[in-house]
Amino acid sequence: MSGQGKKRSELPKELLGFFEPVGGIKLDTELSLFSKFTPHFTFDYMMLEQILEHRWYKDLEALRKYLKTAVGYYWDSNVFRFSDIYGHEYSFSIYLGTGKKLDEDTVTIFSATGTHNLGTFLIEPSITKKLLKIAEEYTKGFCACSLCKSKMKIADIAGGYFGGRYCKRCWEEGYKGKESMKTIEARESYD
Ligand SMILES: [Zn+2]
Repeated sequence: MSGQGKKRSELPKELLGFFEPVGGIKLDTELSLFSKFTPHFTFDYMMLEQILEHRWYKDLEALRKYLKTAVGYYWDSNVFRFSDIYGHEYSFSIYLGTGKKLDEDTVTIFSATGTHNLGTFLIEPSITKKLLKIAEEYTKGFCACSLCKSKMKIADIAGGYFGGRYCKRCWEEGYKGKESMKTIEARESYD
């Protein structure tokens, strides 16, 4: 029965992932309770299909808040991942449209830790298949340029700006009359 029937407030703080400050550093209450891990839910690809194609994703925000409270996680960052048939993990987040049209809701897929945005797509009947295809490509070492959408090797990424990753042309010269991403990145980062 160990571990059962206890309220969260009765558990030792260490068990919840909280650590006392070390080295005599005085922290305020909020920081001293700062969680030292990043929690996430990982759904397998079959569950992902249920979530996306049967519209269970409408409840994900409630689930995120539940996890946040349950483990004392401080941030509001995305906590949702899915795994493909090989067990590789990716992150995803949902953007709910206005609700007037069902097809306005979108899903964004990222690398596991959310550093590389692999694209945003309308949630439509075949969406899971599409996401799994992008995930498989990524694991094989390929992604799409975030600007021109052309397929490239991950090794050939010329530059990144937030979650976007760009091919050499878009990074150095721009695309369809747009400024080069290198110029944009330099201005936004150092101004
Ligand atoms: Zn490009």
